[in-house]
Amino acid sequence: MAEEKKGFFKRLKEGLSKTRNSIVDSFSSVFGASHIDDDFYEELEETFIMADMGYETTEKVIENLKERVKEARIKEPAACKELIINIIRDQMMVDESAYDFEKKKSVILVIGVNGVGKTTTIGKLAAQYKKSGKKVLIAAADTFRAAAIDQLKTWADRAGVEMISHNEGADPAAVVYDAVSAAKARNTDILLIDTAGRLHNKKNLMDELAKMRRIISRDYPDANVESLIVLDGTTGQNALEQARQFSNVTEIDGIVITKLDGTAKGGIAIAIQAELNVPVKFIGIGEKIDDLQRFDPSAYVEALFSGFDEDRSEIDILMDEADL
Ligand code: GDP
Repeated sequence: MAEEKKGFFKRLKEGLSKTRNSIVDSFSSVFGASHIDDDFYEELEETFIMADMGYETTEKVIENLKERVKEARIKEPAACKELIINIIRDQMMVDESAYDFEKKKSVILVIGVNGVGKTTTIGKLAAQYKKSGKKVLIAAADTFRAAAIDQLKTWADRAGVEMISHNEGADPAAVVYDAVSAAKARNTDILLIDTAGRLHNKKNLMDELAKMRRIISRDYPDANVESLIVLDGTTGQNALEQARQFSNVTEIDGIVITKLDGTAKGGIAIAIQAELNVPVKFIGIGEKIDDLQRFDPSAYVEALFSGFDEDRSEIDILMDEADL
């Protein structure tokens, strides 16, 4: 178990390393400055933007830093490093209640555009919940493409859970209706619903998601509804834009950022969380079934910005051992 966790964490670190190296390098050089002045703040700003933290979030963090520097009368640039890590970590902190849905009968609506890793994420979540002893069911409510249904079935088989589906072109609401009946009849703990992410047709998308929610609350009032948006970390500011657009059409309770093992610039997780003010709950760090991790803000921010104290972080991870 410990070995498994260690391996997991190592992968997160390696995943982020492509970005991490350049961020850590420029971060270190910023702190090599002789004093805190406008140039120092500007260089810091550039580093954050380079890390994909987005303009608004960067501004907020810098403003916050300036206040704290003033309050504590800090003179040394190096002393700002810990302050910055703390500011970002506090902002990213995930309340424990964010995972309450895992302890209740829950229906999880998984939203996001095609290609971001929705199917894969559903498969990974299904496998993890099943492994932890829960009864899991998957519903293929993206009926737009036959391939999407087939691919989800492959993941359901891999995870060892059942899937409710209709044919291509069927009404997604009908799939949800059947899935909810099945979940109730089978005393399912977690029902994961795949949805179609056609952002170019916002009105349809909004109606479709609203209809699904109506069916769930009418037919399964005891269930807790959780909606998770999946975003591809490698698409940077596009992911941010998708998050904005989805939040305009539906409620979002949590964020999953995938492909952090690729060329993603880790700052995107910070930007998206700040923008939506919704917690990042999971991160995808590979294509395999166990490559999904609960988001750990402390380990993440440290992995991104600091030289990284390996021993301490591994202990942190072991102590933070997730319930999954
Ligand atoms: P969907 O269209 O949103 O359902 O996306 P898929 O689940 O089909 O994923 C699209 C591609 O992204 C597939 O090739 C997946 O293997 C890949 N993918 C998904 N999550 C991750 C991840 O965390 N890391 C990596 N490297 N690839 C991923």
